[in-house]
Amino acid sequence: MNILKSRCKIRKFSFLIQTRNLALKRFPNYSILTDKDYRKNRCLDDVNSLDSYNEDWLKSCKGNSKLVLLPKTTLELSEILKYCYAKNLAICPQGGNTGLVGGSVPVFDEIIISTRLMNQIIKLDEESSILSCQSGCILQNLDDYVSQRSLIMPLDLGAKGSCHIGGNVSTNAGGLRLLRYGSLKGNVLGLEVVLSNGEILNSMNVPLRKDNTGFDTKQIFIGSEGQLGFISGVSILCPPRPRAANLILVACNGKSFQNVIQIFKTAKLELNEILSAFEFMDRESMRAVKENSNLENPFSIEVSEKCDFYCLVETHSSDEESALRKIENFYSKLSEKDLGLDCIVAENKTQFSYIWSLRERIAESLTKDGHNYKYDISLPLNKMYDLVIDIRKRFSENDAKNYFRRCIGYGHLGDSNLHLNVTSEKYDEKIFKLLEPFLYEWTMKNNGSISAEHGLGLKKKNYIYYSKTKENVEYMRKLKKLFDPKLLLNPYKTLPDF
Ligand SMILES: Cc1cc2nc3c(=O)[nH]c(=O)nc-3n(C[C@H](O)[C@H](O)[C@H](O)COP(=O)(O)OP(=O)(O)OC[C@H]3O[C@@H](n4cnc5c(N)ncnc54)[C@H](O)[C@@H]3O)c2cc1C
Repeated sequence: MNILKSRCKIRKFSFLIQTRNLALKRFPNYSILTDKDYRKNRCLDDVNSLDSYNEDWLKSCKGNSKLVLLPKTTLELSEILKYCYAKNLAICPQGGNTGLVGGSVPVFDEIIISTRLMNQIIKLDEESSILSCQSGCILQNLDDYVSQRSLIMPLDLGAKGSCHIGGNVSTNAGGLRLLRYGSLKGNVLGLEVVLSNGEILNSMNVPLRKDNTGFDTKQIFIGSEGQLGFISGVSILCPPRPRAANLILVACNGKSFQNVIQIFKTAKLELNEILSAFEFMDRESMRAVKENSNLENPFSIEVSEKCDFYCLVETHSSDEESALRKIENFYSKLSEKDLGLDCIVAENKTQFSYIWSLRERIAESLTKDGHNYKYDISLPLNKMYDLVIDIRKRFSENDAKNYFRRCIGYGHLGDSNLHLNVTSEKYDEKIFKLLEPFLYEWTMKNNGSISAEHGLGLKKKNYIYYSKTKENVEYMRKLKKLFDPKLLLNPYKTLPDF
């Protein structure tokens, strides 16, 4: 069976890489696509269609693939991988292409295999609340589907309108409600994975909450960033949809981040089992969504002028009345301890989504500044914001004030996950050198992780040793060689060079 088709004339590759500071060379043992490799349908090879698949969401990494394949079924995907294995053709798995570390686009001429057409729901078992679907289903579509059965997807993120469930599992995405519903490592109950040689490994046939028969092989693929296998199907446990969801935006009192931590502690005590998300954003984040996305700060000018931090607190519960009682107690405790300047509780769906958009649209707003230097770091809570303060100090000590536009901190405070972002009009080597490796050394010294939820991809792979020991990385390499002996899956990424 002929699988691939390249109708385009084979041109000399220019190997366009826009990722700085990575002296990468194309692996010479990979074959170059020829006219003999062909496929009858579902492929894209014209320059205009290829562009959006070759470039990442941040527009910071661009590959030079000449071919995108769009399989519809696991068998088709398996045939493609078998063919690539036999011909030594490297591939780049792609979901919604919303990844933030340059993992989802090719580096050179790898064939892109997109899950865009693998978008079928297979089954929702209403007794067990387990949803089984193909890996290219868009997260928002899945949530809409399960909501009709009074269920909710256990993860939610700003990119939900575009990201695919297979991409979410491959990055072990955390998101906004991990605090309440836990990580994908716990919620994914089965996976179907196509290995680099085309073999299909299936643990979706009997998705069970408890299953200790032997090793749990699916776990190794969750968060493996397309290095070990291509995820074609997912079974995931969906919790009951809350009957009452409430959202509170708190304008924090005082300049110290310690107050934000106190608000979180109060929320845990007073809201307890109904707390579903606890996010924070600093003054600069609020300014970014105002300036770049036209989203007004809902507090009065007096409050916003005094406020350095905002907390977004969401609750999910089965009973509106008792939830409102708990929220009142939470509010009284904040006033007693003088932790809040003001509080807004969303009164209807429009206010609910407006307040969420203040937080969810920060990433998009920042892209309008120009170049984004993006960091996604886990740190002990009491150290979380010190990194932002120290980076600002470093910029001012090095006369870099005029080089950058913003240095901001926001993120999933409930999971100790900081998103530190610096922006400038264009990429600037001086800023980059002030940030890296300083920021990674700082994180290591303070017992953090240099990648909390976005993964390593192309941009962060060489910093892995700041968070993992040599022995751990060695075993990762061994696993890579076991599952992908020809190193054809998503090369040049996640692990330091072989
Ligand atoms: C506005 C915005 C908000 C975001 N918020 C969050 C957040 O809160 N939490 C969070 O964790 N992330 C967040 N992200 C990052 C991103 O959305 C997630 O990493 C998401 O899980 C990626 O899914 P995707 O389908 O777009 O995957 P892609 O970007 O296409 O791919 C990501 C990685 O997975 C691999 N991959 C994709 N599909 C497969 C597959 N089927 N099999 C094997 N490998 C595959 C790719 O090769 C790549 O390495 C955000 C991104 C944006 C743009």
